[in-house]
Amino acid sequence: MKHAGVHGLVRRTHEERVLGALREHGVLSRGEIADLVGLSRTTISEITGTLLAHSAIVVVDTDAASREGSGRPAERLALDPASGQYMGIDFGHRRVQIAVADASHDVIAADSEAYGDPSTWDERLGAAFTLIERVTVGGGLHLGALQGIGIGVIGPYPTTPLVGPREGWGRAESARGIDAVFADRFGARVIVDNNTRFAALAEAISASGAAVQDLLYVRLSDGVGGGLVVGGRLVTGAAGLAGEFGHVTAVPGGRRCRCGKQGCVETVASVPAILAEIRARGVDVETLDDIGREAARSQPVVDEVLRAAGGAVGRALGAAAMAVNPASIVIGGEITRVAPAIVEHIAATLRYELSSVDEAMPSVKASERTDFAGAVGAIAALFRQSPILAAYPAGTPMIHQPPTSRSSTR
Ligand SMILES: [Zn+2]
Repeated sequence: MKHAGVHGLVRRTHEERVLGALREHGVLSRGEIADLVGLSRTTISEITGTLLAHSAIVVVDTDAASREGSGRPAERLALDPASGQYMGIDFGHRRVQIAVADASHDVIAADSEAYGDPSTWDERLGAAFTLIERVTVGGGLHLGALQGIGIGVIGPYPTTPLVGPREGWGRAESARGIDAVFADRFGARVIVDNNTRFAALAEAISASGAAVQDLLYVRLSDGVGGGLVVGGRLVTGAAGLAGEFGHVTAVPGGRRCRCGKQGCVETVASVPAILAEIRARGVDVETLDDIGREAARSQPVVDEVLRAAGGAVGRALGAAAMAVNPASIVIGGEITRVAPAIVEHIAATLRYELSSVDEAMPSVKASERTDFAGAVGAIAALFRQSPILAAYPAGTPMIHQPPTSRSSTR
């Protein structure tokens, strides 16, 4: 090692700890860094001075706006934004979305690309690479310092023999190995998990400054999925299946679900299911916006279908809420934006379901983050910025490290 002597080594270790704190938390004042790494303010001032002089970190702003009381505003520091990029990718049923954040945790690019439903993993990967090309080469964005890629996939993850080769679910099975595909192509660390669980993570972190302790998240989209935060931890479950509210039976003997069962919540409350049911009752709707238009003028059939969908979701969540006693339930998906009544129907059903224990009634609200939630959550998992991830990945979401020798693979 070039930096001979104990003194140099200690200094390097201190620098690494300061850089590590900024990598995890984004933007921090010197005082916050001192508290986080457990070094004196004098030492932190010296170290940040050196790091600033070498352009490893930058001054972002001061805390003047949020500061209470008198005294000089404190400068807030971050890693040089260009020193690292973090990519979140969300593979849905019909589209892939990506978001890219810089080292100061700012999302600097986000975009999406459609594919068919159903589609093979080859087609999905093709769409993802086209999209990444468009955002980077087309958008003038360099991924020269890509630090990590978080990938959200449909269905349970990690995949297990439990979900076997069944039609539909089987598509998640073939997500096996995509971590290696991305690690080889981009030479970066890769984590993979269920995309809705990542969205739940984004929700739990964004809901307040502090991590949310007990929260249920459900997303009504092309499919229906969910995630649980219990005791301040994002729950994965024994087989990666925690939060699969979409496949709770809502209508015994009802429509065949993509999972093979009949009458799952997803067959009543996914966007395609809602559209199909409204059309089957003779109202001409093609898109989400059509639902929104008809819902806005209280079209009776649309009202009824939304009420039934909200009821199915509310009953499934009611059972989960009995088990977990969450403080908060967040409903995600674009449908909550075009037809907010569905959230009211869910809340009304929950109130009934929990009426025997009415102090258990959680707050119920629509997510404010309907777009790119999965991709942004995947980035949050990469930063591991929250205590919510203290027990994460704990062996479940796969981390694939590329061989260190292949630095030329970009
Ligand atoms: Zn199902």
